[in-house]
Amino acid sequence: MHTLPLARSVVDPAAHRRGEPELLAELWADPETLVLVLHEGLLPLTDDGAHLDLRAPDELAGLGPGDGDAVWVFLGQCDERAYLAVLLADLPGDTSLEGVAADGGAAWLATVRRGRLRDVGHLLGDRDADLATTAVALAEWHARHPRCTRCGALTRPEQAGWVRRCPDDGTEDYPRTDAAVIMAVTDDAGRILLAHGAHWPPHRYSTLAGFVEPGESLETAVRREVAEEAGVVVDEVAYVASQPWPFPASLMLGFRARATTTDVVVDGKELTDARWFTREELSAALRAGEVLLPMRTSIALALIEEWFGGTLPASPLPSGR
Ligand SMILES: [Zn+2]
Repeated sequence: MHTLPLARSVVDPAAHRRGEPELLAELWADPETLVLVLHEGLLPLTDDGAHLDLRAPDELAGLGPGDGDAVWVFLGQCDERAYLAVLLADLPGDTSLEGVAADGGAAWLATVRRGRLRDVGHLLGDRDADLATTAVALAEWHARHPRCTRCGALTRPEQAGWVRRCPDDGTEDYPRTDAAVIMAVTDDAGRILLAHGAHWPPHRYSTLAGFVEPGESLETAVRREVAEEAGVVVDEVAYVASQPWPFPASLMLGFRARATTTDVVVDGKELTDARWFTREELSAALRAGEVLLPMRTSIALALIEEWFGGTLPASPLPSGR
């Protein structure tokens, strides 16, 4: 399988530096540093949409570490340059983007082209896709985990944005990653099983997927999900590849799975349809507009294309649908 759009690890996280006491302030003062400013999960993009619009710290007056209540993150190093992220999603209370813009540093955000990672991740180069995936994952975590998991007090970021610590009892909370399996299920005739989710746009079909439950191996999770969602029995399960899917915190673990039964029974709640497709049937359904596949950034499309043996048209639908 080719490199997945959100799994291009070219930035050195340089994790050993996160504990340096003045790391964020030092890097902010370094004119070589580049900064990714994220607000409400939206990536600032160049006009052609193919690059992140990264900024030098001196262009971001009022947004530096210590200037407010945003979260600052050390993303890592690449080509001897350091990269930081400012996560404005964590603005407290009624502070608005306009309020920040009034300070000057974020004024450009109001006019710059912006996009969501799941829509544009495949268009970005290796460095930008890596920076964006890490920043979005950490932004989602900080936004959803403001309180101590032990006592409920508000926690504060430490370790250059990679830990949150409770001021009352010292508990350290680390970023969460939730394991999810996603599988290309095929039968002895070489057909693939694709399903339509109850809350998806019309005609969208994709591979089955689901979260790994406590006490499960990945292989068990694959077999359980296929049985629960489609009523199909699977025996052989083989790992293919993984990619982070930080919407908000998943790691998608891709598998091939071989079905030993072909009768399909959907639950009618999570899934409203599931069908077997030959390559010819899928091609015909795509041409007729009866089937729309997942978006280009997804591992789902990569798994389907691997089975198909060639490139297929990705869904043009915007994210969140
Ligand atoms: Zn606590």
